[in-house]
Amino acid sequence: MYKRNETRQIDVNGVKIGGQDKVVIQSMTNTKTKDVESTVKQTLELEKAGCEIIRVACLDIEDAKAIKSIKEKIHIPIVADIHFDYKIALEAIKSGVDKIRINPGNIGSEEKTKAVVDACKANKIPIRIGVNSGSIEKEILKKYDGKPTAEGMVESALRHIRILEKLNFYDTCISLKASNLDLCIEAYEKASEKFNYPLHIGITEAGTAFSGTIKSSIGLGILLREGIGDTIRVSLSDNPVEEIKVAKEILKNCGLYKKSPTLIACPTCGRTQIDLIPMAKEVEEFLQGIDADITVAVMGCAVNGPGEARCADIGIAGGVKEGLLFKKGEIIRKIKQENIVEELKKEILSMINNK
Ligand code: SF4
Repeated sequence: MYKRNETRQIDVNGVKIGGQDKVVIQSMTNTKTKDVESTVKQTLELEKAGCEIIRVACLDIEDAKAIKSIKEKIHIPIVADIHFDYKIALEAIKSGVDKIRINPGNIGSEEKTKAVVDACKANKIPIRIGVNSGSIEKEILKKYDGKPTAEGMVESALRHIRILEKLNFYDTCISLKASNLDLCIEAYEKASEKFNYPLHIGITEAGTAFSGTIKSSIGLGILLREGIGDTIRVSLSDNPVEEIKVAKEILKNCGLYKKSPTLIACPTCGRTQIDLIPMAKEVEEFLQGIDADITVAVMGCAVNGPGEARCADIGIAGGVKEGLLFKKGEIIRKIKQENIVEELKKEILSMINNK
């Protein structure tokens, strides 16, 4: 494995971020936070998909108060996303929030900032500073010809960091998000050279499930391969559960997620003589619910099929309306096309249950 950047570690109610090989997966609910029932329902779905920390938007005191009831029904740490209003931050802390996302430079007076920082210290609550290319301070923008630059984003982050350090607060995590890939990657690269606070990485406003997945995979893949990133959020204009699936797939392909299966599936061609595409999709859907490091191959023919199926833990190489089942490199039996998916599912479950 490539070398990961050494970062400080923060503790978000038992979930550690930074200072380790593990990259923590996060998402954000898109419900109204004060709608406790909907927020809990969505968070539980996200937990089931593999989300390890959930963030909720806190627009007012009511949202902040709702955190208390939400926390009683969920099992992962909860982060309050707050802009500007220190009273909402204090209320969220009172409600038992596990982390807050707020930029100290935007809170206002020194006393207000100190009140939030003191409450975080007293309750062992880390703070995420979230710099976004679209909201860099005017003075910094001016310095860089009025445009968002990686240098400007890092300077903005440092400005917020210094405010917290002046108050002896170091339980900090930083994000530097931009929707432009080059800008975002460069900002994280520069930040990782400047300080060792853990980095929350994400390509913001990445797009729909289709375009956002591609964009996030390129951007986050590059950063992760450079050893940058301690926690990840994929931003998609879709059900947040999709964000978790994509995050897991990105981490898995960077060697940073071991708990999920890998599916190898052929693209099909003129040689294919079984109805492979729906089979591969059904197996992929089934594998979403499996927490095991297992490789499954669904291959179309006798040319490349047996090679891939043999190398996988379990696999099928298609023939004429039938498939050859492989387990750990050995041919087990032939299965008729209509039974392949069900048989494969049974074999996968039996393999992971006997591991
Ligand atoms: S595995 Fe066989 S069927 Fe699938 S794409 Fe390759 S040659 Fe074609």
